Formats: sequence, C-alpha cells, structure tokens
Amino acid sequence: MTFSFTIYTAPMFLSAIVSGGLMLWSLRRRTSPGAIWFALLMFSTFVWALGYFFELNSTSYVVAQFWSKVQYLTVPGAVIIWLVLVLTYTGQEKYITPRNLAIFFLIPALTIVLAWTNDYHQWLWINPRLSADVPFSTVIFEHGWWYWVNTGYIYAVFALSTIILIVSYSRSIALYRRQIMVLLIFSGIVFLSNVVYVFGNITEGYNISPITFSVGGIVVAWGLFRYRIFNVMPIAADLVVDTISDAVIVVDAGNRVLNLNPAAERFWGYKLTDALGLHIEKLTGSWAKLAEFFRTDAPVHGEVPLMVQQEAKTIELQVTPIYGRDGWLNARLVVVRDVTARKKSEQALVEARNQALDALRVRRQLLANVSHELRSPLGTILGFAELLEGGTFGEISPKQRDVAGKIIDSANYLTALVDDLLYQAQIEAGAVAVKAEPFDVRTMIRRVEEKMAVLVDVKGLQFRVDIDDVVPQTLIGDTLRIQQILVNLINNAIKYTAEGTVDLRVYCPDDRHWALAVRDTGLGIPAQAQSYIFDAFRQVDNDKRTNIHGVGLGLSIVKQLVTMMDGTIELDSVEGRGSTFTVTLPLQVTTSVSTGETG
Ligand code: ADP
Repeated sequence: MTFSFTIYTAPMFLSAIVSGGLMLWSLRRRTSPGAIWFALLMFSTFVWALGYFFELNSTSYVVAQFWSKVQYLTVPGAVIIWLVLVLTYTGQEKYITPRNLAIFFLIPALTIVLAWTNDYHQWLWINPRLSADVPFSTVIFEHGWWYWVNTGYIYAVFALSTIILIVSYSRSIALYRRQIMVLLIFSGIVFLSNVVYVFGNITEGYNISPITFSVGGIVVAWGLFRYRIFNVMPIAADLVVDTISDAVIVVDAGNRVLNLNPAAERFWGYKLTDALGLHIEKLTGSWAKLAEFFRTDAPVHGEVPLMVQQEAKTIELQVTPIYGRDGWLNARLVVVRDVTARKKSEQALVEARNQALDALRVRRQLLANVSHELRSPLGTILGFAELLEGGTFGEISPKQRDVAGKIIDSANYLTALVDDLLYQAQIEAGAVAVKAEPFDVRTMIRRVEEKMAVLVDVKGLQFRVDIDDVVPQTLIGDTLRIQQILVNLINNAIKYTAEGTVDLRVYCPDDRHWALAVRDTGLGIPAQAQSYIFDAFRQVDNDKRTNIHGVGLGLSIVKQLVTMMDGTIELDSVEGRGSTFTVTLPLQVTTSVSTGETG
C-alpha cells in the first residue's frame, strides 16, 4: 500500500498526528477530572483522521469501504464524549451515571453495528461505491434511514451540549467564564465547519470534520493548560459553596445578586431563581446597616444586628471584592454567618461573670463582718478567763486553774485565727497598705526573737539568728508587716519541726536586695504541695501531719504582704528534711540623702 500526500490527504495525516498527540498529552494529566474524556475525544478524532487518510488513499472500493467502517468505530460516540466532557466541566457530573451513559451510547453503538453489517441491510448507506471524478478515493452513497437517525441524534446531543455551556456561562462568575468560553469556542469551530461543509465550496465527498476536531482540540488543550480547567474545576468550587453551612452570595459590581448558595437561599428565604438580578437591598431587607459593607473596594468584615425573616439576628458579614484581570471590580463575594447564638452566649457569659464578682464581693464583706463580730466576744472570754485564773473572783482550785488555762489557750488560738481571717479579708478588699518608714533591722529582729522564745523553749528546739554585717543598720519599709511575716514563718517552722533547729538568717543576696531566710529541720513539704501552699486555705494533706491546727491562711497572708512590698518568697524543701522559706525584699536604705558631715 502506498500513500500519497496531497492537498486532501496531508491535512488528514496531520490531524491524526495532532489529535494523537493531544490524546497522549491529556493522558499524562489523567488524574485531573475530565482529562480522560478529553483524551477519549482526541482518540476518536485520531481514529477518524487516520481512517479517513487511509480511505482517501485507497486503491479499491473494498479497501475504502473497510477504512470507512474503521472510522465508524469511534466517530458515532464522539459527540457523547463531548457531552460528558461538558457535563463534567460545568459541574453536572451527577448526570454521568453508568445507566445514563448506557442510554447515551445506545444509538452510537447501534450505528457501529449497523455500519459493519451494512452490506446485509443497507440501513445506513444505500448503494455505497467509490466516488468518481475526484482526486482521491472515498466511498459515496445514498442515505439509508438509520443515517438520518444517527445524524439527527448527533445534532441533538451537540445542540444540548452547547445549550448547557451557554447556560452555565451566564451563571458563572468571571473566573469560570473564560474556561467555559474555551469549550464554547470548540463548539463554534465544529459548528462553523458544518456550515462550510454544507454551504461551502468544497470538493464533493471531502469531509473536513477530522481537521476541525483537531484544531478545536488544540484550542481546548490550550485553554485547559492556560486556565488549568482540569485543575480548577468550577464543580469543586461550586461543591464547596453548595455544601458550606455559611450563606454565600455573589453580587455584581452594582450589588445585584448573581448567585446564592443553598444556605443563603434558606437564610434569606429566597430561591436563587427569584433572587437573580435583585439588588441586595431587596434580598436583605435593610440596606441602611449594610450599605457601608458594599461601598468600599477593600474587603470588609463585621457584625450587624438585622431582622431576618421576622427574626432578630446578629449576623457576621464578610464582603470580599473580586477583581478581573483588567483590575476592575467584577463582583463581590458575600459570606454571611448567623452568630446570634454565639452573641447570646457571650452575653450570658458576661452576666455570669458579673454575678460571680458580686458574689465574691458579698463573700468578702461577710468574712470581714463576721470576723470582726467574732473578735469582741472572744476578747471578753479571754479577759474573764484571765481574771478567773488570776483569782479576781475568789480562790480557785488547781483543777479549776488548769481548766481556765485551757480556756485561755483556746481563746488565744481562736483570736489568732480570727485575726488571720480578718486580715485576709482586708488584704483582698485592698484595705491593707504597706508603709515605707526607716526602721532598725537589728531591733526588729530582736523583738521577733523575744516573741518566739517561749514557743521554741516549749518544743525544746534550738533557735539561731544570724545577721550579716553587710545588712545596713537602718532600712526603709514596714517594720510591723515584716515582723508579721517573720512570726508567721518562724511559727510554722516551729510548728512543723519536732526536733533540731530553726534558723533565721538576714543577709544581702546582692546590692539591691536584702533577704530573710527561715530554715527548719522539720517535716518538709512534698514537691507537689509546694505550688499550692501559698494559696489561701490550702494545707499539705489538710495537715494531719501534726496535732497543731491551722486553717492555711498564714502563708497566703505572707505571700500577699511580700508581693505588696515588691518582694518575692521562695521555698526550698525536701520532704522529711526540713524547709527554707526565703523572703527577698528591695533594699531601700534611706529616703533622703544625708550630708554625713555633721559632727
Ligand atoms: P497553717 O495555718 O495550716 O499553718 P500556712 O498557710 O501557714 O497554714 O501553711 C500552709 C501549709 O504549708 C501548712 O498547713 C503546712 O502543711 C505547710 N507548711 C508551712 N510551713 C511549713 C514548714 N516550715 N514545714 C512544713 N510544712 C509547712
């Protein structure tokens, strides 16, 4: 078999190469949806062009007829492939079901069978023969009735595809329009070639369709590549917009509705078909509050109280302008979210917080009042018990004296507790202030020592005090509060130490601070408790470790006082080996500069 490349055959050969190439190109991108269908379309064009090329080159009717039938293997189905491509691409994949495909392909399949069995019935081609008087070989024939069925079907499907493209073009936003345009151009080329075929001055029997299909294929491939149709399919975007729970509206530059997603339809109570072309003012009902969102060229975001379908709502609005390539505002994307529930719960939270604060205030007040009220009767109890013990009311027996002593002890303990409670309440109420006055450190320490001496003796502990020489004689601070801190810490040290020593060391860790460290050889504090014992009413194990009771306020008060003095308190302790509490305070030596030259 020899081939000649003439003005008629060469374009077919070229078309075969182009469509074959496009098929391979598209197959390489087959992971993109739609690419496989495009490859199939190009495959059928390839078979068509090549088959036709061989037909044109045939030397006998039998050979020509064979190649003509070969073309009929793929050509009748091509238009269905095109339809599927259009459906895929315009986001109507739901119609591409195996059942629908079977229905679509039914007539093309019959056409193929009838083509190959034409000799027996001539339903497709009547009296097929080799054409005469043309510079190529081709089979000519009269049209059988099935020929018209097939042709009509092809035109119908092609028209349907074109309508789908036009409709979705008018509904899409700019980004997707360009892509749909590419497919429309393909339709246009195919349509024009038909016009040329029917009305044009082309040698009779010569079919230029394989050429137009390849050229169209190039356009589509270019479009696919350029706009990445297969990558950014509107379907994907539509799907997101359709299934998203936020209401999404697209309006044009004049704020007229171009699109609504189902959530927006439900939200505003409008069907897309009714809303199309409406000014957004109509849709939302209240323009006054919304207008500012649609005025600027920049994205806007905010919350607006609105009546939506007769219901008061708070909506969160996000308006994003969409610009075309030319830089002009094309559309605005409006995302609406109903935040009414969130707003309500925020409000409830604020109210709950206010209530909690009120309750706290009441509790503090109560604590302060109660503590205060407890103090006076306690004073009376203590006073009378002391008078009783001292024999003011007459001679008492040793047994009675012992009982009076117990009453005095308990009353003292209770007074200390009430003092702590009262003090804690005062600190919380911000009623405690620390003074900044000069005081003599060594005198203050001596006072503390004297105060603690009895307790130390009773427990048989050793109490050592060491004051570094570098500690200045006079410091500025609140001597009473510092004493209170020390008494608390040393008290604890004695309380939680069965034997050994309690040390107090006063020193300067650096030239801007001075420190008071109270060390004991007692129970120690377990690591996990070290973080919370400074909190009010917190104790280690609710202290069952000793039979001396407390309520867990001492350290809390100490910590708060230290903080008020701009100081810090640190704890270093190993359970069973003792603890060291170190209070570090800013070193303030004097408030005024002394001349130092007197005398
Ligand atoms: P409390 O009135 O119970 O002593 P504090 O606030 O003074 O309250 O102390 C809180 C808890 O810290 C105490 O109950 C005790 O468990 C623990 N603690 C405080 N100081 C010491 C210490 N020097 N040694 C061991 N445990 C201590």
